[in-house]
Amino acid sequence: MTNQRLTVVIAAHNEAQALPVLHPRIAAALEQLDGIEGRVLYVDDGSTDASWAVLQRIAQADSRVALLRLSRNFGKEAALTAGLDQVEAGAAMILDADGQDPPELIPQFVARWREGYDDVHGTRIQREGEGWLKRATAHGFYRFIGRLSKTPIPADTGDFRLLSPRSLSALKQLRERHRFMKGLFGWVGFNQIAIPYRRQARLAGRSNFGFWRLWNFALEGITSFSTAPLRAATYLGVLTALVAFAFALWIVIKAMLWGDAVAGWPTMMSVILFLGGVQLVALGLIGEYLGRLYEESKQRPLYLVDVWQPAAGGVSSGQ
Ligand code: UDP
Ligand code: MG
Repeated sequence: MTNQRLTVVIAAHNEAQALPVLHPRIAAALEQLDGIEGRVLYVDDGSTDASWAVLQRIAQADSRVALLRLSRNFGKEAALTAGLDQVEAGAAMILDADGQDPPELIPQFVARWREGYDDVHGTRIQREGEGWLKRATAHGFYRFIGRLSKTPIPADTGDFRLLSPRSLSALKQLRERHRFMKGLFGWVGFNQIAIPYRRQARLAGRSNFGFWRLWNFALEGITSFSTAPLRAATYLGVLTALVAFAFALWIVIKAMLWGDAVAGWPTMMSVILFLGGVQLVALGLIGEYLGRLYEESKQRPLYLVDVWQPAAGGVSSGQ
């Protein structure tokens, strides 16, 4: 097995400070690989800082580096998809631009790939530089989605992973717009193995994912990989209907036995409000799924390329 290719794909959004520190570490890791042609592909996901200029400098100094710039900020998942789409041969390794996924582990990932694994993913045994709230919610989320989703989604596992050529080409066939990558990797399957690692603190800058964005990301994951909430709405509806019937029966019997003195305004109000609330929740749930269906039906491209600059090559614009 000589001269297989490995392309390290990195999505970067405003990482001008971290990139110059990260690149030498990646370069050093690639040099350790025996019989493997190492490449690096940076995807600039609509950065508004000096990231693109920094990347240009890195590419000038290192002929293994290719660059891709998207037309605007499309989000990490789309940026990664754009990067992976450009990998034509060999395996791909995904890591974060901020140094949270240590490139020093690349040789370990490659060793597993050589043993025949298709999806080698890093599992966080410890997270450094992240608050307890983020750690606790992340922990809860991975357990929750793990139980809800029929697709296996390994816990505490992010995008830090190596994909063999066949798992990469399988992933390329999944073109859905709402991309919950962790789930997509799980859907692909093949031989998967985890490599435990300590997640480092960011090299510089701050996380792009605030609380609100993470919350939406969690909703994305749940609605993309499970229809359990719809089922839950059905059960809630059935339960409410049963209780309503019992209550109606009780009212009728009461009226027959003791007559019907007009009273019960509190009861009426609470029943109306309760039923209204349940209906709105169920409607909102349907809306979440419908909205996603609507997005899919538009069939827009997942991203647009502004500049594609192959390794040590000329610049070509547009797509
Ligand atoms: N990122 C991106 N586009 C975005 C947001 C983030 O390409 O819109 C990249 C970012 O540069 C980093 C990775 O995705 O390389 C993870 O982002 P971040 O570190 O902000 O997230 P966290 O590690 O806190 O989950
Ligand atoms: Mg990070």
